[in-house]
Amino acid sequence: MSSGIVGEFFELKADSGADLLAMQMGDFYEFFGEDAEVVGEELDLKVSERSSGGEHYAMAGVPVDELTPYIKALAERGYRIAVADQRDEDGDIVREVVRIVTPGTLLETDRSDAQYLASVACDGEDAYGLAVCDVTTGRFRATTLSGADAAARALSELYRFDPVEVLPGPRVRSDDDFLASVRDELNARLTLHETEAFAPGRARHRLTEQFGDVPGTVGLSETAVAAAGAAIDYVEATGVGALASITRIGAYEPDDHVAVDATTQRNLEVTEPMTPGGRTLFGTIDHTETSAGGRLLKEWLTRPLRRAGTLETRHDAVDALLGDALVREGIAETLSEAYDVERAASRAVSGSADADALLRVRETLALVPDLGERIEGSPELADSPVAALFADLDRAAIADLRSELEALADDPPKTLHEGGLIERGYDEDLDELVARHEAALEFFETLEERETRRHGFSRVTVGRNKTDGYYVQVPKSETGSVPEEYEGIKTLKNAERYVFGELREKEREIFRLEEERGEREYEAFCRLRASVADRADLLGAVGRALAELDAYCSLATHAARQGWTRPELADERVLDIEAGRHPVVETETQFVPNDLYLDRERRFLLVTGPNMSGKSTYMRQAALVTLLAQVGSFVPADSARVGLVDGIYTRVGALDELAGGRSTFMVEMEELSNILHSATDESLVVLDEVGRGTATYDGISIAWAATEYLHNEVGAFALFATHYHELTSLAEELPRVENVHVAVAGEPEAEAGAEAGVGTETGTEGDAGAGSDDGVAFLRTIEPGPTDRSYGVHVADLAGVPAPVVDRAGEVLRRLREERAIEARGGDSGEPVQTVFDLGSGEFRDGAGRSEGGANGADVPGDDATEASDAARSTSDGGAVDPDTAAVVEEVRETSLAETSPVELMNRVREWQRRLDGE
Ligand code: ADP
Repeated sequence: MSSGIVGEFFELKADSGADLLAMQMGDFYEFFGEDAEVVGEELDLKVSERSSGGEHYAMAGVPVDELTPYIKALAERGYRIAVADQRDEDGDIVREVVRIVTPGTLLETDRSDAQYLASVACDGEDAYGLAVCDVTTGRFRATTLSGADAAARALSELYRFDPVEVLPGPRVRSDDDFLASVRDELNARLTLHETEAFAPGRARHRLTEQFGDVPGTVGLSETAVAAAGAAIDYVEATGVGALASITRIGAYEPDDHVAVDATTQRNLEVTEPMTPGGRTLFGTIDHTETSAGGRLLKEWLTRPLRRAGTLETRHDAVDALLGDALVREGIAETLSEAYDVERAASRAVSGSADADALLRVRETLALVPDLGERIEGSPELADSPVAALFADLDRAAIADLRSELEALADDPPKTLHEGGLIERGYDEDLDELVARHEAALEFFETLEERETRRHGFSRVTVGRNKTDGYYVQVPKSETGSVPEEYEGIKTLKNAERYVFGELREKEREIFRLEEERGEREYEAFCRLRASVADRADLLGAVGRALAELDAYCSLATHAARQGWTRPELADERVLDIEAGRHPVVETETQFVPNDLYLDRERRFLLVTGPNMSGKSTYMRQAALVTLLAQVGSFVPADSARVGLVDGIYTRVGALDELAGGRSTFMVEMEELSNILHSATDESLVVLDEVGRGTATYDGISIAWAATEYLHNEVGAFALFATHYHELTSLAEELPRVENVHVAVAGEPEAEAGAEAGVGTETGTEGDAGAGSDDGVAFLRTIEPGPTDRSYGVHVADLAGVPAPVVDRAGEVLRRLREERAIEARGGDSGEPVQTVFDLGSGEFRDGAGRSEGGANGADVPGDDATEASDAARSTSDGGAVDPDTAAVVEEVRETSLAETSPVELMNRVREWQRRLDGE
């Protein structure tokens, strides 16, 4: 055990529970041992060595006034840093930890995003309480997620807030899966705060202390109270003093929001690109002028709503701003001068706001009347929700605060103790002090001239510095004329410095006045800062109004630039898009618009087409149009009618995860499982290939069963792109499934295309099919078939895909194998062969990598649409059952007597007879 100063360091550090300790020793904060090495490495600080008690320790230090930027940088990298200050107690130096700076409680942040600290509690019975708090703005919100998929919803919610620090409650911290997901999905520090803070009694008490009797009135559940109380407890324990800025707790219902899980947000590239450097939806549509506006827009995009009223209000606001381009541009220009007043207020409350921060508050408040006039003066805006934003602001209070802040000097110094902060006329005593100070300074201003004259010098200078104070400097050549009263204090190369009695006296006076003035100005500054802190609520309201205005302007600007239209929000289940575009792709290329129509009777589209033909873009576009409509934005289409959805779920092809090195098929199945469990008949589901990560038959079987399940049980709107043409026959069996396909150059007038509404014009045709030439590059994605032939279905089972889907996939698989066996017996081998699908060439191959050629593994029930299998049939002459007959037999086998009406049955039989007769 070390002793001495280093021993004290380690003791304090152990008690603090922090990752690093900065301990004050005189004018420096020091780090010792491993801490010194970490800090040296992270911040490029010089690491030296110190001996203590016969041992050597690494040591690194930063000057006392420079600590802030260093700990800020450390906290932003995820460290928790304890700061121990020293004080003099009756001659003894005592050190104690005064605060712990953590990623989620850092006030001095520069990040443009919200800086959320999240706390998660779980009651052990499928309810999760979630509280999120941004100490930089004082925002505090809490909610409860319950039900069978509560954990997944809690994770989605967390992902949406993207916290920098997460406090897992007692039950949550023993849930390895949950923690693993937090680690994987979020770039957040996990901090174990003391368990008692989550105890219901203590948590409630904390909240009552902070907000009064709020928990009872806003309807927070017990678990939400636990999470919220623990968050408050934690903020207080870190000692940052940010608590006072947290004045309101907002309970919110996650059900008001559209469920957009983490995977979907990533797949749709809402705020993060899938590939480094890629474009995001936010990056494309963000034209905000302020960081608060940008934060709000991002929050809107990650939290689409189901409340038609709020959405209509947002659409009205965008509409109004769209109608008056001139005023909109004027507003944007004014907003570009606005600062983040919410954050400034929060720092005023904690006492860490400097003069610059208050000056920015003053400048921003000055913009309010200007913006108000612009809005009220525009006929388009005067009656719109944009005007309402400002109508509720207390303009008189804003004017008062602003005029109080006029006391601040326009160009204040960085330090707060040396005067120069406050204008004259604010404080009479201060004015008098300043007058005396200035008069005293006059003595020194005229001293050079006086001394030159008096003593016959040709050249002397009067100066001042930290060590010598005021002095008279005489060149060496003239030191002979120096009078007796001059007292030499320093010899320089070519000159001597002197002081004398009167100079000393005046110097003392000046120092005293400076100190007094500095104190007085600092006091005045603190009063101004306190006024700002007292008005934290007002500034919060101003900040929110400006941010909202900024976000609306940004949406209107984008709509104007790209010709977006206002979506019509419908009460019924419908998605009707005319000439829709992909919001990001349309800005990068000559986009070919296309239509989309879904309603109760036509709610499942199977999208087929060659690689690179635009399937994926088409489906994402549907999801993004829906999302934008439910964010309150206009949408990229000539017209759009959008029935509000309760969730958007996507899963995209295996290729992306392969690139990321994740266990492809398991991940794919987990995502599918999540969708099948979570989606409802009011959701929109986008599946971009399912089953591709496993052997062909397993893949088809799972995709087949999943389609049936989504169609029959879930009833969600779904778009499903697949290269398994076998699935297109599902459209005949399932009444609400339709096929669409992307037209390809040179294709004969396509029957499916006409009904599909994927109107692809000649423009894209150059692209279509290009991807299939890339086969060689894709070859490594071939998954060799495993020995267990139903590996894929097993994995689906393991991944939690609902039992009916797994069972059904098993059935389809058996059927496919039977078909396959017939085919194979017709060929030269009696044994069925495991086949896999080569993503690149679009061909089936056997396990050894041989292309299957004629023996076509794709020949499954009801397949009468695949070009490849047509070609295969024409070359396969080995006595297989006539494919048309096989198709009919399969359909007979497939027909469910229980689900088919007698009339329908008669129709089908008639149709079969016709087909068997070769008509
Ligand atoms: P698929 O899913 O069929 O493989 P993608 O949707 O990935 O095809 O599209 C392939 C390429 O074509 C992409 O680069 C995309 O930007 C472009 N693209 C897709 N749809 C359109 C369209 N309607 N107009 C113009 N370019 C498009």
